[in-house]
Amino acid sequence: MNSLYRDELLKLGLLLSLGYLIGSQWDYAWAGLAIALCFYILMMLRYYRHFNDWLDNRGLSKKPLVNTFWSTIIDQIQRLLNELRNEQQLLREDVEYFKESFQALDNGVVVIDHAGKIDWCNKSTLDLLGIQLERDKGELLVNLIRAPEFNRYLEQQQFDQPLILVSPRSPQLHLEIQATIFRHNHTLVFARDISDVYILEKMRRDFVANVSHELRTPLTVITGYLETLKDNIEGLPDIWPRAIEQMLVQSHRMDTMVEDLIALSRLESVPKSQSHTDRVTIEGLLTGLVSDAKLPFPKKSISLDIATDTFQHQTPPLKWPLQMIGNYDELHSALSNLIQNAIKYTSDSGKIQISCKCVRNNMLIEVQDDGEGIDAIHIPRLTERFYRVDSSRTSSTGGTGLGLAIVKHVLARHNAELTIHSVVGKGSRFICTFPLEVLESEQPTDN
Ligand code: ADP
Repeated sequence: MNSLYRDELLKLGLLLSLGYLIGSQWDYAWAGLAIALCFYILMMLRYYRHFNDWLDNRGLSKKPLVNTFWSTIIDQIQRLLNELRNEQQLLREDVEYFKESFQALDNGVVVIDHAGKIDWCNKSTLDLLGIQLERDKGELLVNLIRAPEFNRYLEQQQFDQPLILVSPRSPQLHLEIQATIFRHNHTLVFARDISDVYILEKMRRDFVANVSHELRTPLTVITGYLETLKDNIEGLPDIWPRAIEQMLVQSHRMDTMVEDLIALSRLESVPKSQSHTDRVTIEGLLTGLVSDAKLPFPKKSISLDIATDTFQHQTPPLKWPLQMIGNYDELHSALSNLIQNAIKYTSDSGKIQISCKCVRNNMLIEVQDDGEGIDAIHIPRLTERFYRVDSSRTSSTGGTGLGLAIVKHVLARHNAELTIHSVVGKGSRFICTFPLEVLESEQPTDN
């Protein structure tokens, strides 16, 4: 490029010298110089026009007739344009490749822009969501899928969990919707047909719920007769008192199991959105649970500590007494399960501490005991149904193995989480972490 400029400058110098020399023949050296310069400028303007026309044509027309200087510039631009075109072609092929692969999917894929309007979708969306690209491009997706939960799902942008939705095409079609945000607030929405899994899951839930309900009546009859027999054991052979006692313990255990199974199927079958919502006074709930727990176990030390001041540092500050927006029965059952476990798995003089405090953006309700503790290998599986650390431990305490599964379900329905810390021989700590959004300062009641 440097030599190009040098050559061009040389040419200009020669032209100007020639103009000057010719001009000086007639004593008009400067005029000769000026004419040579004008000639050069005019030629350059002409070449520039040819170059500009060629450029306007995006470099697709024939190369214009220009001097070496412009010709070299045009060649360089031509090379760059060719490179760009090749890259563009490769990108286009990549986009086509991805579009084709999305088209081949049985799952529906919809791309929506920052305003929620449909940008692109594959063919499967017609069967699953009733959306067709040619007809619906540019439409608001929430106008085509009219379900409040779907609207909320897109609005809140909490896409860590999928949404189960009944298809707008058919009430028999159940979809799992999973969205994710990408470039410039665009959203990719995947819809998967899970009708078969949904039906199977529903059959399982219904089966467990029906069996549990059906077992209730015979169990009540058996327990009733056993209790009557227990009160009238005089005159019966020696073997009977112990046998009746054991049968009673087992029938009570089955009774608790049936009740827990019914509670679990209720939690699974009633969606969170349809669950009854109360304003639960936290202090009232915890104090009630603690005094209920203390009564049958006077020797155990059961204490409650509520760190009310930790809530005041929030913006806006949360003033005690606080209430939680949630389902009273569910919360009562979850916290009661944790406290009952702490009682079950500690010695007669065991120490149980229940506390409530605010840490960062969460409210923590903790149940801590100094009981036998749990080996770390069991902790990840504790919330599975019927998972027991040690079945002999459970049969002696009358546990069902369902308590922590209920706790986990209830907490998930309140956007909360359960964390378990435990050391064998030292004790366990069960922490329920609630987001502060579910809390509000108690409203004064009008009398
Ligand atoms: P269960 O009705 O058997 O207590 P859970 O689901 O409530 O069922 O608990 C599952 C298992 O976790 C129990 O069998 C027990 O071994 C263990 N576990 C629960 N809480 C405690 C605790 N506070 N201390 C020690 N072990 C516990």
